[in-house]
Amino acid sequence: MTRLRLRPRQSLVCRQAVELVTDYLEGALSQTQRRRFEAHLTRCPDCPEYLAQMRAVITLAGSITPDDMTPRMRGEFIRLYRRWRADEAHDSL
Ligand SMILES: [Zn+2]
Repeated sequence: MTRLRLRPRQSLVCRQAVELVTDYLEGALSQTQRRRFEAHLTRCPDCPEYLAQMRAVITLAGSITPDDMTPRMRGEFIRLYRRWRADEAHDSL
């Protein structure tokens, strides 16, 4: 079970946003989905950073398709993301 350090009020939306990140980066979202996703990014303190992290991972990996994103991989990305955020918090102290 993955524990996300997100506010409960936002966790469902953020989980949906995480599901959409790969499609977003590959330009596979419909216009409506893309708008909703971008609207969430403007309000959410966490997802833009997750998106940046995913973009970096995809750049390294070449490309990634939604089918490649197993729940285990998703967990790995989330762990990377949290670690990255922790490092950044440490730097700012
Ligand atoms: Zn979010």
